[in-house]
Amino acid sequence: MTDPHYQTAATTAQFANNLAAVRARIAVACARAGRDPGSVRLLPVSKTVPAERVRLAVAAGCTELGENKVQEAYEKSLALADLALRWVVIGHLQRNKAKFVARFASEFQALDSLKLAAVLQQKLSEENRTLDVLVQVNTSGEASKFGMEPGAAAAFIRAMPTYPRLRVRGLMTLAILDTDEARVRRCFQILRELREQLRNQIRIEALVEIQMDELSMGMSGDFEIAIEEGATIVRVGQAIFGPRALPDSYYWPEENKPGAGADAG
Ligand SMILES: *Cc1c(COP(=O)(O)O)cnc(C)c1O
Repeated sequence: MTDPHYQTAATTAQFANNLAAVRARIAVACARAGRDPGSVRLLPVSKTVPAERVRLAVAAGCTELGENKVQEAYEKSLALADLALRWVVIGHLQRNKAKFVARFASEFQALDSLKLAAVLQQKLSEENRTLDVLVQVNTSGEASKFGMEPGAAAAFIRAMPTYPRLRVRGLMTLAILDTDEARVRRCFQILRELREQLRNQIRIEALVEIQMDELSMGMSGDFEIAIEEGATIVRVGQAIFGPRALPDSYYWPEENKPGAGADAG
């Protein structure tokens, strides 16, 4: 969703302005929902933004960065290695790139298969690291969105204690891209309801290693709705960095739907 209102930030002061504007929007949404703004983590998404411009955002106060593509993220993490940054990979991961995530990422929000969990566990062992993970769920029913079906999540988290270097923290979703707010909201509600079910399961089955607190949902165009529905993490790119040249379909291409591509699952 490219919005003409998004301002491209080219100075630290402009980044500070954009960040303040996003924080103000978060505060308004929290007030409407009767929530503490401190309960919502703002994850700035720097995909497509060159390292030198990311540096300005860091000077304006960003301490962690979300990136969709692991190769791009890894290169930026090397270019910005002099800064103490927390890198969060938020996009679909091919198994042959798991080694990069194991090397530099602190968090991975798009875990959607046990095969990928097994490879990550192996690579993390080699690096002697752990990784916070969110399980990505497809709440829109759209083939272009990655993530598992909501009904598959219970069995999935039951298997997760097998991979102790992956520390499960919660769930992530991308809402449907739709001008009908009710349909967007429904995606967020599905994720929250799923979290409540999984919390019950965790209690009953004593899956003590699994934490199910986080709901990563909402982007520049829809994060207020997500906050009203309980988001604990909002992933915001364009409202901080400015409009992107590439359309969203570049990140969620139809031909990469789960089960169809060589890299699926
Ligand atoms: C790019 C991206 C976002 C942020 O989208 P904006 O419209 O730039 O706020 C959020 N989540 C994921 C998975 C993304 O790839």
